[in-house]
Amino acid sequence: MNLKLNNKVAIVTGASRGIGFSIANMLAEEGVKVALISRNIESLIKAREQMSHSENIIFFSGDIVDSNFVKITIEKVFKKWNKIDIMVNNAGINKDKILLRMKEQDWDNVINTNLKGCYNTMKSVSKYMLKQKSGKIINISSVIGQIGNSGQSNYAASKSGIEGLTRSLAVELGSRNININCIAPGYIETDMTNKLDKQILNNMKKNIPLNKLGTCNDIGNLVCYLASDLSSYITGQVINIDGGMTIN
Ligand code: NDP
Repeated sequence: MNLKLNNKVAIVTGASRGIGFSIANMLAEEGVKVALISRNIESLIKAREQMSHSENIIFFSGDIVDSNFVKITIEKVFKKWNKIDIMVNNAGINKDKILLRMKEQDWDNVINTNLKGCYNTMKSVSKYMLKQKSGKIINISSVIGQIGNSGQSNYAASKSGIEGLTRSLAVELGSRNININCIAPGYIETDMTNKLDKQILNNMKKNIPLNKLGTCNDIGNLVCYLASDLSSYITGQVINIDGGMTIN
């Protein structure tokens, strides 16, 4: 299947490690020029070095909660490559505590990073996509936004919010040929899950019909498809990549 992504331009937030790294790397392998965004500059330098097509990669270090940083960065990407075809909102954090013990700051940080960060990028990037009359926005939520989880009320609220934001913006921008979709991962093999105790991991797998964790590339594959014109009649959707966990 030819995705025809060569020479497209993408921005990926949270691309210095984990799922975002794989998304950016897989897009670059398809010939996409990719701008990486995350806060820590050393991690970004290392990530670019590890990517197989580093000549297609630029990066910007900063906080997606800062609307001014986001606006200026997106403007720089547009000035460098004269278009922005794909925006992937992947950066996200969690600060887990049961609600009674959750500090206001932990609530604010999670909502601001996960939800306001998406608002910031989508507001800036849609300006360019509206002028181009084309664009693909892909947001990364989580199955936790659908099923909830004890100790993750801030995270779940932020991820449900992303799904609502996706549907609303898909309605607003659909007539301008801009597709906005959301991927909701279940448990994915990352540094975090790799460190888990074997027993905990096995218990987690028992609740997953496919009996295994997903990989970062599972998410990257769907991002590449949603970024391509092969998915041009799909918008406003939330697609779960969870091994069947949410139907169990
Ligand atoms: P990681 O913690 O491995 O990576 C998060 C990335 O986001 C890093 O690059 C981090 O870099 C960046 N980031 C965090 N905060 C900010 C910020 N304020 N501004 C800019 N960049 C930021 O996460 P994962 O790869 O595990 O997860 C990626 C996404 O997938 C998240 O949205 C997560 O909620 C979602 N998800 C993950 C699952 C999993 O099993 N791993 C399951 C379901 C959903 P830096 O710290 O340098 O800024």
